[in-house]
Formats: sequence, structure tokens, C-alpha cells
Amino acid sequence: MGALQSTDIERKDVIVSRNPATREVLGEVPDQGAAEVKAAVARARAAQKEWGELPVKERCERMRRFRDVLIHRAPELIDLLVRECGKTRTEALSMDVMTTIDLATYFIKRGPKILAPHSISLHLLKTRGSYLHYVPRGVVGIISPWNFPFAIPMGEAMMALITGSAVVNKPSEITPLIALKTKSLWDATGLPPDLFQVVTGRGATGAALIDSGVDFIHFTGSTAVGKKVAAACGERLIPNVVELGGKAPAVVCADADVDRTAKALVWGAFANQGQVCISVERVYAHQSVHDELVEKVVALTQKLRQGDPSTAGDFDTGTMTWDHQVEIVEERIKTAVSQGAQVRTGGKRAGTGLAFSPTVLTECRHDMDVMKKEIFGPVMPIMKVRDEEEAVRLANDSHLGLAAYVFTGDRQKGKRLAERIEAGTVMVNDCLLAYGAPEVPFGGLKQSGIGHTHSDQGLRDLCQTRHVNYDRLAFKREMWWYPYSDKMYKRTLGLMKWLFR
Ligand code: NAD
Repeated sequence: MGALQSTDIERKDVIVSRNPATREVLGEVPDQGAAEVKAAVARARAAQKEWGELPVKERCERMRRFRDVLIHRAPELIDLLVRECGKTRTEALSMDVMTTIDLATYFIKRGPKILAPHSISLHLLKTRGSYLHYVPRGVVGIISPWNFPFAIPMGEAMMALITGSAVVNKPSEITPLIALKTKSLWDATGLPPDLFQVVTGRGATGAALIDSGVDFIHFTGSTAVGKKVAAACGERLIPNVVELGGKAPAVVCADADVDRTAKALVWGAFANQGQVCISVERVYAHQSVHDELVEKVVALTQKLRQGDPSTAGDFDTGTMTWDHQVEIVEERIKTAVSQGAQVRTGGKRAGTGLAFSPTVLTECRHDMDVMKKEIFGPVMPIMKVRDEEEAVRLANDSHLGLAAYVFTGDRQKGKRLAERIEAGTVMVNDCLLAYGAPEVPFGGLKQSGIGHTHSDQGLRDLCQTRHVNYDRLAFKREMWWYPYSDKMYKRTLGLMKWLFR
């Protein structure tokens, strides 16, 4: 990871990682090709054989060793997350590292129970018994984005390893060093090195992973790339989960606690510089609280302390991670302003590097791009609505459906509204946090994805679910066997009428 000469930066066979706050080169990684990816998958497959045969409890115990190394060496990870992503130290700890350690702890403890064979009582075929058992997939390919370059691939990797699979991760080309750091921590545990591997590269490396003979693909990223990934998996009949883009609405009711709501929205829109798939991306505020809410949101936003998070000082917000994403944010704001939105605060780059001022837009209309297209940056567009019905209708008028938020003083009403919103996760009176609860499923509706991660079911989905059906009572023959006859037909007809009377 030594410093590079500027002449090296354009080399096509390497990827250069830079600190987004200073643009300093942090290191370079190879852009790996199909042959290298295939070889990694073959090594993973060999290592998986023994691992997959261990009892789940034993695998969980061994995974605890990895978890403990992560706890012990968390400061190293946090330091790199800050330098490679521009996120604050607190967010690197709480959103990337701690959530992953909590998830690992949950599944290490619960894994044996979740993956125990599960018997099913058959309502009609009483002479037979059935149970499901969960078999490792083999090699799980994880293709991941840059916004949570530790939590996203490692949460999934922890789960897949507990189920008995091996993992090959293709991290984002924007933040590859964190993945390699994680790999070095894995190797330090003494667990088989080939069981968890990282292949670095751009989109073509991800495509090569899908084509390498893996048994399952877990993809997290944009809707556009997710469609290509799902199609490539479909052609090869590889089971997959795709976790894609979001455009989370926040519905603010007339009876909301405006003070608390403003604080929650500012955090929900600007945490991780708005580069969260479930960031608050559009606010529908009831006309009776709209002006007070805007005033409070703007005041709180202006108080946020922004700076290079790798330097000393208390910062609430750091820099964005990817220069192209900053350009998208600038374009979204420019278009919104040309369509009549007002910038109430922020709206421009802030100092050196990829810092962008947290931005509040008002006078927004639902037909504006900024209310329809994913921003994935520190921008909170606010629109005034007549009533809650209009807010719910507009919240649902989207091709995306990952997360949504409802703010109200009436919890029962909050739940009723939440149930009407078309999103995989809806939170009442808070934002973002639900992703951090490993017990609950996380996944999108519409073009926000297919399938779920987290939860007991998410762990089982990473396995092959196999069904065994056995005889509970032994007879010389079964009534549904040959030979067929008219007598048998009539008896069966009579039985059907009696059973379903
Ligand atoms: P992206 O889709 O550009 O890239 C994601 C990954 O896919 C990267 O590793 C990339 O190299 C790889 N890739 C690119 N082309 C590929 C191809 N043809 N085949 C296989 N792999 C390919 O996304 P990004 O910019 O890294 O991440 C931002 C997006 O991710 C946002 O839209 C955000 O909402 C979404 N996201 C979703 C979730 C979720 O859980 N739903 C979580 C985080 C981010």
C-alpha cells in the first residue's frame, strides 16, 4: 500500500484508491481477470468441503474467533474506513464495524437453532412425516458497493460462513482496501485462508465472479447494475439476492413532534453524507407543520460540523466517497433549482476533496427529478402536502420501495400508515436504524431488489433447503399405488367428499 507516483495512476491493470478528503493516494490493487477469479472460486470450493461438514455449532465457535479479532483490531478498520471513505470516525464505528459485530454475535449464538432441521406436520398425509434441513450452498459470491464497504459484504459473509459455505467477495473498485484489510484480519485468525477470499477489480471482475461457477450470488448496488446481475444469474440459474437503490420518503404528520422529527430527519438524510440506500431522500410534510419543520431542519443542518474526519476534531459529517457521485448530486440540485426548488442551506462543495455541504431544498414538487431519482448524497428535498392521504399516495408513487419513515404523535396511526406504504422496511418516528437489527429481514420491493438479507429466514435462504419425507407407519401397500380400478376411483371420490365436506 505504498504511495504511488502520479505516472502510475492511469495504469489500466491497477485500481488506485484515494482518500476522498485529501485526494492522497492510499494504495493500489490489481484489476483481476476471469482466470484469477475462477482460480479463487476453485480454491474456495476445495476449502469449503471440510468446513461444510462441521456441525453448525462448531462453525459458530470458530467464527467467534474471527469476531473477536474484529473487536480487538477495530481501530485499524475504523482508521482505514475514515481514510478510504471520508466517513466520520463515529459512523465508521457505529454503522460499519459495530453493526457487523452485533450481527455476527447474533448469528453465532442463534445459528445452530435457526439451521436445525425443522419438522412439518402434514395435515392430510398422517402416515408420513416431513422435515426440512439446511445444506450449505457451496461457494457464495458477494458483490458489494462502496458506501458501507465493511458492513455490507462482511455481514453477508459472516452469515454465509456460518451456514457452511465459502465466500468470495468482489468489493467496489472505489473502496477496495477495506476488503483487503478485512481479508488480512481473517487470515490472522488461523481459519482456512481460502474459505474467505477477496478478488479486486471493476464491473468485469464482478461479472466474472457470476460466471465462475459460484453457487449463490449476493449483490448489493445500483438498480441498473442489479438488473444485469439478476439477468446473468438467471441465464445460469444461479440463485441470487439483489439489494438495490432506494428513494426513502418521510411522511411528517400534523401531530408529529416537530422538534424530534427535525433531528431525526437531519440525521436520516445526512448520516454517511447521505450515501445510504435508506437515506431520507424526500420529505412530505403536512402543511400545518411544514414551515416550522423547515425552519428547524435548516437551523440544525447549519450547525453540523464538517471536516476531514481523518484529522483531529469533532465532526458530525465528513466527505463524500466518490467524485462521480458528487457530480450526480450537483446535477440533481442544479436541475431541481431550474425547476423551481429553493436551496435553503448548502448546495455546494465544501472546501477541499469531496466534501459537499449538507443541503436542504424546499418548494419541491413531486414531479421534480430530485423527488423521483435516487440522489445518494447529502440532500434533503422537502415538499408541503395537504394531508396524510396525499403524503402516502406520493410516497407510493415511485419505482423504488426500499425503506420509508412516518412521523406522528399517535403510534397506532403511525403503524396504520406504515402498513400502507410500499417499502420493505417502514420505521415510525426514527430513521435508518432498522438495517442494524440482524433479527429482521431487510430487502426492497419494486425495483429496490429481490430477496432479503438478515433475519432467521435470510440465514436459511443462504442454504439449500431440502425436504425429507419418511414413513411414520408401515403398511404392506399404499392405497394410491397400482393397480387402479373403478372401485378405487369411487372410493377415492367418496373419501374426497367426506374429507372436504
Ligand atoms: P454499483 O451498482 O455501481 O456497483 C456495485 C458493485 O457491482 C461494484 O462492486 C461494481 O464493481 C459491481 N459491478 C458493476 N458492474 C457489474 C456487472 N456488470 N456485473 C457484476 N458486478 C458489477 O453500485 P455502487 O455505486 O457501488 O453503490 C451505490 C448503489 O448501491 C446505490 O444505488 C445504493 O442505493 C445501492 N445500495 C443498496 C443497498 C441495499 O441494501 N439495498 C445498500 C447499499 C447500497
